[in-house]
Amino acid sequence: MEKLKQIYEGKAKKLYETESTDLLIQEFKDDATAFDAAKRGTITNKGIINNKLSEKIFTLLQKKGIPTHFIKRMNDRDMLVKRVKIVPIEVTMRNIVAGGMAKLLGLNEGIVLKQPVLEWHYKEDALHDPLINDDHVRALGIATEKELETIKKYSYRANSLMKKFFDSKNLILVDFKLEFGRYKGKIILADEISPDTCRLWDKTTKEKLDKDRFRRDMGNVEGAYEEVLRRVMN
Ligand code: UDP
Repeated sequence: MEKLKQIYEGKAKKLYETESTDLLIQEFKDDATAFDAAKRGTITNKGIINNKLSEKIFTLLQKKGIPTHFIKRMNDRDMLVKRVKIVPIEVTMRNIVAGGMAKLLGLNEGIVLKQPVLEWHYKEDALHDPLINDDHVRALGIATEKELETIKKYSYRANSLMKKFFDSKNLILVDFKLEFGRYKGKIILADEISPDTCRLWDKTTKEKLDKDRFRRDMGNVEGAYEEVLRRVMN
């Protein structure tokens, strides 16, 4: 399978058509953006690391019954995936208060939530991905009731599986973002799962090992991504 026409270039990835109409190649770039692309930069080797980490997590979730778009990793930066129509909502799952939730509710980062919190954000950079609820999703026809229930079920299940997995690697899964798509009439998990989309803290020191190092100019961004890969592959 090889790359034919490029059909999309996003902030961190490019998508290419292949000989098969149902399959795309997803290429992971080193480009990084934050605050709706107001901040831009590159993180050396991020694409290679996120490709491998996404492979690992998608494989784990797939084995446990969550369908994903992942087919196989082809090389350092390319992954073969099913071609989906992305549902235009970002699903955020939170275990610990950080980032947007700390800001929205005036809370300190690090508060352990009594239960996971699932949020929908409408995917629209110009509006800064506003927080919406189930009624918005149904009333605007963004997804059907059945799709909503499926997405919720997969998201909570992914959270418990990923929490347990990262915990075994001495990492705390603080929060993360998922995107789903439609493939042959079914909802499947798509996009990527990486330190770009997950907040991961060292279990012992609480050191941040994710994109917050880039967002907040904390330094050693590359080192943090490499450390996550090293632990996950161990
Ligand atoms: N996130 C993401 N893409 C986005 C927004 C958030 O992958 O466009 C991830 C982010 O890395 C974090 C989680 O979703 O792990 C929750 O992010 P939050 O809503 O706190 O927003 P942020 O603090 O990134 O603005």
